[in-house]
Amino acid sequence: MTKWVYGFGGGSADGDASMKNLLGGKGANLAEMSSLGLPVPPGFTITTEVCTYYYANGEAYPAELVADVKAALAKVENVVGKTFGSVENPLLVSVRSGARASMPGMMDTVLNLGLNDETVEGLAKLSGDRRFAFDSYRRFITMYSNVVLGLGHDHFEEVLDEHKERLGVSVDTELTAENWEKIVADYKALVERELGKAFPQDPHAQLWGAVGAVFESWMNDRAKFYRRMHDIPESWGTAVNVQSMVFGNMGETSATGVAFTRNPSTGENKLYGEFLINAQGEDVVAGIRTPQSLTKAGREEMGETALSMEEAMPVVFGQFVDVVGRLESHYRDMQDIEFTVEQGRLWMLQTRNGKRTAKSALKIAVDLAAEGVISKEEGISRVEPAALDQLLHPTLDPKAERKIITTGLPASPGAATGKIVFDADEAERAAQNGDAVILVREETSPEDIHGMHAARGIVTARGGMTSHAAVVARGMGRPCVSGAGDIRIDDKAGTFTVRGRVFKAGEVITIDGAKGEVLEGAVAMIEPELTGDFQTLMAWADDVRRLKVRANAETPLDAKTARGFGAEGIGLCRTEHMFFDDTRIAAVREMILADNEAGRRAALAKIAPFQK
Ligand code: ADP
Ligand code: MG
Repeated sequence: MTKWVYGFGGGSADGDASMKNLLGGKGANLAEMSSLGLPVPPGFTITTEVCTYYYANGEAYPAELVADVKAALAKVENVVGKTFGSVENPLLVSVRSGARASMPGMMDTVLNLGLNDETVEGLAKLSGDRRFAFDSYRRFITMYSNVVLGLGHDHFEEVLDEHKERLGVSVDTELTAENWEKIVADYKALVERELGKAFPQDPHAQLWGAVGAVFESWMNDRAKFYRRMHDIPESWGTAVNVQSMVFGNMGETSATGVAFTRNPSTGENKLYGEFLINAQGEDVVAGIRTPQSLTKAGREEMGETALSMEEAMPVVFGQFVDVVGRLESHYRDMQDIEFTVEQGRLWMLQTRNGKRTAKSALKIAVDLAAEGVISKEEGISRVEPAALDQLLHPTLDPKAERKIITTGLPASPGAATGKIVFDADEAERAAQNGDAVILVREETSPEDIHGMHAARGIVTARGGMTSHAAVVARGMGRPCVSGAGDIRIDDKAGTFTVRGRVFKAGEVITIDGAKGEVLEGAVAMIEPELTGDFQTLMAWADDVRRLKVRANAETPLDAKTARGFGAEGIGLCRTEHMFFDDTRIAAVREMILADNEAGRRAALAKIAPFQK
């Protein structure tokens, strides 16, 4: 019989991190953290197979699902010592969607599910904090109405604002238990008025409503669009995570936050993150209050006055540092983490490999290998060629002023400044005379190659990320903005026009291929850094190449890419759309072999000419 529901919490779990396809990323990692013995609020995951079943069977669940969920919920009640729907001792849960890959198109999380007019009284008694109970209830009504019943936030904001105005208060924290109680009553009346139905009071009806909404959101327009953009098959489905609530909004010894085990923009090996005292999960992202730094060093760097978590809650901070350290060594990569502290007790709510910039990816890979966490080969394979390539280009000085003419697609990274030319032969002639040029074309074709090579950068009015211009530009290492649809080229007049503004051949423009921007005039640039981590990684790649590990690249093109980076035999080939022409391969190889800065720079100049 198919297992549709996987439990986690209380030091064990039915699933683990390897089961992302079945449990989704969030569910698989919650299971893994539980098995590691980390403090995870107990819960269960309804698998992606249920989602697939649901759509294959006219939006119906497998017959056993109701019983399976009931059994899983009973286990959670057992571990937590509370009962779902109980008035005296109510268990509350969150309902969280979770596909294999994180998907912004999916349903938002519902927190505090299980609250109703009776259980809210139980929560008030149990916590000894009536204000907290009604604050939680009004949050639940807003979230559930919004994501499950389809009644927008703004309706609730309006009611809240009316109350605040009448009471003469400006921030939510000034509202008392009695105030929230009245607001809750008005919220319920609002739902009934707008939807013609009372807000659901039965916790089980609430639960199934939220579960259904997660599965429904798999087919909403946002999710469909996102799947198309990222080649995610519809057949994958999403999982649903139901998890017992922990509360970061139970006073000054409670908090909620997010953390990265290393700095995601610089890669620096320092805990990085933000938290809010006396708040629930969504407050950190919602921007209602400004979060504070996790560490004392972070606070000082940001010049914040409010205490960091390290200073405000030193004991639980110490535990947290210990836990995130364990997570990073376990997953052997930088982690992006969500957590909550409930009255001095730490709870882990999510972990995943953190997204990072190219620069950070390089530093983290080199550092992890140097720390012995991963091998050198793995270190090399952790840096995508596209990221490395990005680091090899000059970039626009972030402090320089940008006057944007128009934007298109970020077809090939790097920045370049030059005079406008409209013709490949002209580009070649100008380059021979020592002029830097930007080739601007409707689109490019194979006859334009020599001109593209001679140009510092390429702009096209038509074409996507895999257009001729984009593919060739990436291969040559030329910055390129493609599909800048506002550009109208007049070949005869030797001009292009953008919304009425005319630019003539010979005028200077700058392009930022990483952002897809076309800019007025010359913009200051900064040189790529070839020292430090880059040099280290190149040296490792060279070592490995000398060891003649056989290429495991999947296609001849990939193998070529791998060889290009001197990393013969290493998985340096995950990005499909990287094409390198022979000049580029030769130059990168030369750069790897050069044993001094001047040699590397000379080699780089051949593929990424730097302009002062
Ligand atoms: P997203 O994918 O948008 O981050 P999540 O499901 O991770 O959505 O949750 C949104 C917020 O709610 C996060 O801050 C998360 O930590 C918090 N959260 C989710 N489940 C719980 C829970 N059971 N107890 C407390 N906070 C929770
Ligand atoms: Mg999350």
